[in-house]
Formats: sequence, C-alpha cells, structure tokens
Amino acid sequence: MPDDAPRPTVSVPTPDTSPQHRPATRAVHAGRPAVVPDAPLNTPLTMAATYVAGGDVEYGRYGNPTWTAFEEALGELEGGRALAFSSGLAAVATVLDLVANDAVVVAPQHAYQGTLGQLGDAQLRGRARSRLVDIEDTDAVRAALDDDVALLWLESPTNPALEIADIRALTAAAREAGAYSVVDNTFATPLLQQPLDLGADIVVHSATKYLAGHSDALLGAVVVRDDELHDVLKKRRDLLGATPGTLETWLALRGMRTLHLRVERAQQNATELARRLEAHPAVTRVRYPGFGGIVGVELAGGAGAADLLCHATQVWVYATSLGGVESSLERRRRWRTEAATIPESLVRLSVGIEDVEDLWDDLDRALRAWS
Ligand SMILES: *Cc1c(COP(=O)(O)O)cnc(C)c1O
Repeated sequence: MPDDAPRPTVSVPTPDTSPQHRPATRAVHAGRPAVVPDAPLNTPLTMAATYVAGGDVEYGRYGNPTWTAFEEALGELEGGRALAFSSGLAAVATVLDLVANDAVVVAPQHAYQGTLGQLGDAQLRGRARSRLVDIEDTDAVRAALDDDVALLWLESPTNPALEIADIRALTAAAREAGAYSVVDNTFATPLLQQPLDLGADIVVHSATKYLAGHSDALLGAVVVRDDELHDVLKKRRDLLGATPGTLETWLALRGMRTLHLRVERAQQNATELARRLEAHPAVTRVRYPGFGGIVGVELAGGAGAADLLCHATQVWVYATSLGGVESSLERRRRWRTEAATIPESLVRLSVGIEDVEDLWDDLDRALRAWS
C-alpha cells in the first residue's frame, strides 16, 4: 500500500475481561496487552535488567511487564492478586518467612517434601516450630490450632499421598485461632479448586507443574486478596531476590492458555486409569481423590516391583515432577527426603494428555512383565 493511500479507521473495542467470564475464557484472555491498533496480541518477552530512571519500577528485580502479565492471568483464575517467584519453593519460603520467631506452623505430615524440608530446617535453626498433622482428620487439625500457631499450611490433595483436607472448615478454624491459612494449590490448579473462595488467606503454586505444563520452566507463585499482605510479600521478594525468570513467566503464561484443556484431558485419563488399576492383580491400592491428574498406586511386589515398573514403561517417562503434557512416573521413596510414612511401593503417576489406551497398554504391559 502506498504511503499516501487512505487508511481505514480502525475502531477496536476494549475486550471485556471481567471476572464474570467462565474460567476457560479467562485462561485464554487474561493478561493480554491493551487492545490498540498494531498492539501485539501476546505479551512480549521483555528482557530488562534495568529501566530508564523516573518510572515506577526502575530496576529488574522490582518488576517486569512479562511477570505482570502472568500475575494478572493467574490472579484472575484464583480470584486474587498474584506474585511470581523463581520457583515453587521460593514462594513457599517467602510465605513461611512471614511468621515471627518461634511461632508454630501447623502442616500436613505428608506435605510436599521440600515444604517439610523448609519446616524442618526452620525448626533446627530455632526459627519456627512445626506441628505435623493428618490433614484428613479435621478434628485433630482443629485441636492443633492453639494460641502459638501463626500459620496453618494446607496442601490438598497432598503430594504424593493424595489426601484431601476440608479447606473450608480448616481455614475458618485457623481464622478463629488468629492464624493465617495457606493452601498449596499445585495439584488442583485454580480450575478445580479456588482456595481464596474457601477462606484461605494465601494460595501457593509450583507453576513448574500444571500452570506452565510442559516440563520446561521452573516457576512459583503466591496469590492473596489482601492488598497489605500482597505488598508485604512483594517487599520480601524484592529483598530476597526470589524473582522469577522472565522467559519462565512467558512460558507459563503461554502454558496457561491451554490449562483448561490439559487439566480436563489429564483428569479424564486419570479417572479411567484409576478405575482400571483398581482391578489390576499387581496393584494393592489406588489413591485417586476423584479429580486432577495425579494417581498413586501401591504394588503387591513392594519397592522392587515399583522400581521395575518405572524402568519397564515405554510411553510413561521415568522422571520426577508432574503436571506436564507427557505422562511420567516415579517411586517416591527413592528420595531420602520423602516422609518415612509414605509406602515404599507407592508409584506416583502424573497422567498426561496422550491417548488413554496407549497409556493403559504401556502400564498394563509393564505391570505384567514381572508379575
Ligand atoms: C513441586 C512442588 C513444589 C515445589 O515447587 P518447585 O517449583 O519445584 O520449587 C511445591 N509444592 C508442591 C505440591 C509441588 O508439587
């Protein structure tokens, strides 16, 4: 088109991204650039360690537009204000750091092993005390919430025991006891469970898992409703330097555009596989809470059988971590850091989005190889 040709006037309506839209619509549209002519549809990857002086951000540790886009999208899905961190464990550490010296943290005995590791470390250093509970025993958790408790840590489902907490009842009990409540929502994702609506003060994510969803980025996040709490956590992130990688937030935002499709398919596959595994002669127990993409199987042949299974599959990848598009599995007790009350033969299956019949054929063949 010649330079002097008349151009059509483009009038672009501002899209309505209001929270009354359903989650799938929000997952696709949240955190996009303002709609003006020639604006990119997707948030650019802004690689910047510093900014021209005089603005609101000034330096790369204090903020980045790509982080902000990821935070807006996750915030819209969880119903709060999100902050991205360098990893899930950086998010966990920053939240645990909120408690005063010598305060008590009540936490699940089968929380993620890294979270338990941080609690154990804090106790060893005399920084905080932890009280580990059976998260499914609501009365026992309530009884543990005395005046010394500053924080109730919930994870539901737990990793890897797949226990379920009564989040609504327990966050109410924590509030009554004057304690903050936190939910690690990594397994459920905001599509299956929104803890802030169930009374939690803080939500934590390993965005490494389902949110990013492709096993290629380490990233964490915290989501809160309270503006003051948001600012305190932001200040901790600035001070500790627990800041996300820019490429990682971009990848996670890209991943979140298909979160609803991936979670739906993984859950559909997991439901079917859990049902079939229940009837498998090599399996003594199946743990599946009825939602999500993680299934636990305990094997009649013990740890040896579990190790063999992990080495015998061809479609399922033998690897730690979870929440990727590809199915993976591992025997959790191969890690020294895993809780001693997790059965030796427990194999955690992270069910991906492949064809369920291929996943079943591979598992069934591997399970029969030695039984
Ligand atoms: C993986 C995981 C974490 C830790 O996240 P990283 O991104 O690996 O640091 C925390 N909580 C749960 C439930 C996890 O599965």
